[in-house]
Amino acid sequence: MTEHATKRCEYDLLLHACCGPCLEWPAQLSLQEKQKLLIYYMNPNIQPAVENKRRLENLMILTRKLDLDLIADPICQPEIWQNWDDPVETRCQMCYGRRLQAAADKAVELGIPAFSTTLLVSPWQDRDAIVAAGSRIARQAGLVFVDRDFRSGYREGQRMAREDGLYRQRYCGCLPSLELSDFKEQIKLDLAALAE
Ligand code: SF4
Repeated sequence: MTEHATKRCEYDLLLHACCGPCLEWPAQLSLQEKQKLLIYYMNPNIQPAVENKRRLENLMILTRKLDLDLIADPICQPEIWQNWDDPVETRCQMCYGRRLQAAADKAVELGIPAFSTTLLVSPWQDRDAIVAAGSRIARQAGLVFVDRDFRSGYREGQRMAREDGLYRQRYCGCLPSLELSDFKEQIKLDLAALAE
């Protein structure tokens, strides 16, 4: 799915986005700095599919408001995350790696020299693992991975998301993370209603 016409090679940065609320603060900083952004959504870890769709729709509310170009791939792959059992790579390392690899591939395809991710705004994510994966993938692809620490703006970003009326999720994304949420019973009811 492509939202808005993309302007090939006019971008400074491909910014992988996991959801609308996490885009708020990084987008604000980048726009203040007059960076030309292409937003890229590809999060097969966000499960089930109705939740993936809901997060993408809320991201689109924000990209439209900010007049940002967006390329979105709504792929959802719960079986990979549920069955993940690897002695070397944790589920979260695999999850960061797959999404950042897809972002790098898209940047190469479009001739964009640098990429980053809104995952770097969240204090709940493993920053070291994200930076390690992004840096490794960037080296292999001949790109720059921008490992800016956006976390000081996390609360402000969440406030902005509330103001914009965006849906703010209460679990990371994969079905195993839903099972760990304190709100899982309510979330499951909400998801069942969405799926009807
Ligand atoms: S907890 Fe979050 S980062 Fe870790 S595998 Fe699940 S969706 Fe990915």
